[in-house]
Amino acid sequence: MFHILVHSPLYIADSKPKHQKERIFQFSTQSYPEMAMASISRRKATTVFSSWRHLYSNSSKYSSIVSRSYSVSSGSDENDVVVVGGGPGGYVAAIKAAQLGLKTTCIEKRGALGGTCLNVGCIPSKALLHSSHMYHEAKHSFASHGVKLSSVEVNLPAMMAQKDKAVGNLTKGIEGLFKKNKVTYVKGYGKFLSPSEVSVDTLEGGNTVVKGKNIIIATGSDVKGLPGIIIDEKRIVSSTGALSLSEVPKKLVVIGAGYIGLEMGSVWGRLGSEVTVVEFAADIVPTMDGEVRKQFQRSLEKQKMKFMLNTKVVSVDTAGNGVKLTLEPAAGGDQTTLEADVVLVSAGRVPFTAGLGLDKIGVETDKAGRILVNHRFGTNVPGVYAIGDVIPGPMLAHKAEEDGVACVEYIAGKEGHVDYDMVPGVVYTHPEVASVGKTEEQVKALGVDYRVGKFPFLANSRAKAIDDAEGVVKILAEKETDKILGVHIMSPNAGELIHEAVLALHYGASSEDIARTCHAHPTMSEALKEAAMATYDKPIHI
Ligand SMILES: Cc1cc2nc3c(=O)[nH]c(=O)nc-3n(C[C@H](O)[C@H](O)[C@H](O)COP(=O)(O)OP(=O)(O)OC[C@H]3O[C@@H](n4cnc5c(N)ncnc54)[C@H](O)[C@@H]3O)c2cc1C
Repeated sequence: MFHILVHSPLYIADSKPKHQKERIFQFSTQSYPEMAMASISRRKATTVFSSWRHLYSNSSKYSSIVSRSYSVSSGSDENDVVVVGGGPGGYVAAIKAAQLGLKTTCIEKRGALGGTCLNVGCIPSKALLHSSHMYHEAKHSFASHGVKLSSVEVNLPAMMAQKDKAVGNLTKGIEGLFKKNKVTYVKGYGKFLSPSEVSVDTLEGGNTVVKGKNIIIATGSDVKGLPGIIIDEKRIVSSTGALSLSEVPKKLVVIGAGYIGLEMGSVWGRLGSEVTVVEFAADIVPTMDGEVRKQFQRSLEKQKMKFMLNTKVVSVDTAGNGVKLTLEPAAGGDQTTLEADVVLVSAGRVPFTAGLGLDKIGVETDKAGRILVNHRFGTNVPGVYAIGDVIPGPMLAHKAEEDGVACVEYIAGKEGHVDYDMVPGVVYTHPEVASVGKTEEQVKALGVDYRVGKFPFLANSRAKAIDDAEGVVKILAEKETDKILGVHIMSPNAGELIHEAVLALHYGASSEDIARTCHAHPTMSEALKEAAMATYDKPIHI
């Protein structure tokens, strides 16, 4: 006899209606053959998901690596764990290692912890997205809500100062967490001397050698340049420059319609720039569900963002006052020109390992420069691990954090786990777009029979009450088992709403599970419940 927490009413088989069953049972599987059957169908459904990491974990070269031994508070100079890079992957790994009793040092060259995410990525971009949204609302929406303002102006230095304050407070907060958890913090550029020694040119000007039984590479990523385009961070900027412009450009051209380009385009568009996004591919954000993507593009177009898809930037001329871009259809054809005051190069990011000395210790990378690891985050060099943006997988802060925790758990002799099929992705525009699991295109390609349920926010009472009802929830579920395969949400705060779906996927929930879960009224979350109802049966409110 043992306790089992039943995650889905579909897996309970007796005469009562499915949804009225108790969820915690004491039983033996032998007396509940239906339960065993259901578990099998769930496992069958699970095969729809496959992790990219399996590609690497099957390699015998990587699979046999075991972490070196470690000692709890050994008292020696040697660390149990040394982390190179203090971004979301590295600092989280360092804190977790210390929490597990491992003597830990983290080396960071930037002079501030938090990596790309806190310093020039997630946090400053979200600060500007929020501030620019407030300005846009004040200018365009307050009046219809009965809030009358005589004038609304942008104070860009104040907006930037608020962003910098948020960044400064958060990066200092991590230093505080390092102190609290007794992580040693070395400020400087790390370079491998051997698989267990890192030489650090410190920011104060000296040099020190940090020794570790296990070394984790968490050096992250950098902006991907484009051939022939020199980023001066003034007129031709990367995302870093776009986060600190000193004035609102009249015309902004964004090269690349990924999430960073669209977020930064939104910021400056709301503040008054004419924004044109030039994209080589046929679609914006290629990883997004196609149907949701189309709605999303229409929404951005309504906000006056212009798109030139299937278009290649041939050259960029900065000889005059502005910038002149020469464009060409991606498939070849007549050239056209486009004028801009500022050009944002947002064509993706590349792993960063410059000056780290990977060649000295023989760490293997792929053609894209990403460090290859096995399922335990071990490289081909025993005792050397890698996590976050520097390895294959989605380049996202929360994915880097999950890597960091799991990697350290393996080093400490425990089991770690990251499910790469369940990493949510969010575009923080307005409305936001958030998703987890498979897109409809992916489900079709897998040949799985599926059902789709959708619910528009136009029929959601909370969205109507606040007059912010653009968007939709779309759920994909396996036809045979009703197991949820993917959830896509376009709405205000979709980035918060998605986590109910992430949890549902983790527990292998069915759409009926979500539909029968009581959701508070009036909330945007009710749209997810209604979409779930639409997936296995019928929604109420449409
Ligand atoms: C504009 C922008 C917006 C973004 N928004 C989001 C978002 O909203 N959500 C999200 O999930 N992700 C977002 N990202 C991506 C996110 O920032 C990265 O996925 C995340 O920071 C990766 O974490 P990491 O720890 O692997 O690497 P990083 O954050 O890049 O950190 C690596 C650190 O290592 C240091 N380092 C490198 N080499 C050395 C060396 N040899 N010695 C010492 N230190 C070294 C670097 O200085 C850096 O601080 C955004 C990125 C950008 C650019």
